Amino acid sequence: MKIIVTGASGRMGRMLVRVVAESGGTELVGATEHPGSGFVGGDVGKIAGIGALGITLVDDIASLPQADVLIDFTTPDASMHHAEFVAGHGMRMVIGTTGHSVRQLRDLRNILLACPTVMAANYSVGVNLALQLIRQAAQVLGTEYDAEIYEAHHKHKIDAPSGTALAMGRTLACGRGINFDEAAVFTREGVTGERKAGSIGFSVVRAGNIVGEHKVMFVSDEERIEIRHIASDRMVFAKGAVRGARWLMDQNAGWYGMEHVLGLSD
Ligand code: NAP
Repeated sequence: MKIIVTGASGRMGRMLVRVVAESGGTELVGATEHPGSGFVGGDVGKIAGIGALGITLVDDIASLPQADVLIDFTTPDASMHHAEFVAGHGMRMVIGTTGHSVRQLRDLRNILLACPTVMAANYSVGVNLALQLIRQAAQVLGTEYDAEIYEAHHKHKIDAPSGTALAMGRTLACGRGINFDEAAVFTREGVTGERKAGSIGFSVVRAGNIVGEHKVMFVSDEERIEIRHIASDRMVFAKGAVRGARWLMDQNAGWYGMEHVLGLSD
């Protein structure tokens, strides 16, 4: 399976280069960065810390050969550009980038209509299992239990709340059978008044080098249930994304999530 990694000098990009280069049956055939990056022209293996791979980091995706799958962990704007390349070459795409607007998401799906695509806010197996547990808990506990979502990430993260926290909120709302956009409370400051029944509150921490921490709390007057996930190494996301890429090789055109890759949903 021939793979292109975009944003290959980023935190996730370097991990992806390592997993693709070191796994059996996967071959890195191209890697990009944005124009002006100081890493352009360098060997991606050296940038990833695994020694030369003979693949030069380029800033022009159009100069790359066709591959089977493109894996994108960059920025929302960049991912749209990369999706055009995928669609133009009849390839498959694994999207890890988060922070797209509703409009960007719609455009992305339109661009990739004919391409098998996996998009997930979080490629860890543990988080995807946690999502199933959150849905189940929300169904059983209903709005009698106040629901709050906490997430913490490193200081360089540019979007908030995290895509994973939003996915947890949407899953929770789905389990309760309510509209997420009406229930979500993203800020609390000053005299906020009492907590609105049925709301889903978010709190966000950005500090140091935290890889990713998420916690969903269901709280009644008598008890508290917490579903918590801590990622301690980014490698977990890279391995999940490459697992998604392998899975896509046998799929028809369509828009899939990690729950499909893991067989947690039809
Ligand atoms: P990062 O370290 O900033 O990496 C992003 C890389 O993309 C950077 O090297 C950036 O270059 C590069 N880039 C920007 N525009 C580009 C373009 N047009 N073409 C090629 N490369 C471009 O960030 P990260 O921590 O790796 O995270 C990247 C994304 O993945 C974020 O949206 C994050 O939320 C998401 N993420 C998702 C998961 C998941 O499981 N789904 C897990 C972790 C992270 P410069 O730095 O030079 O601008």
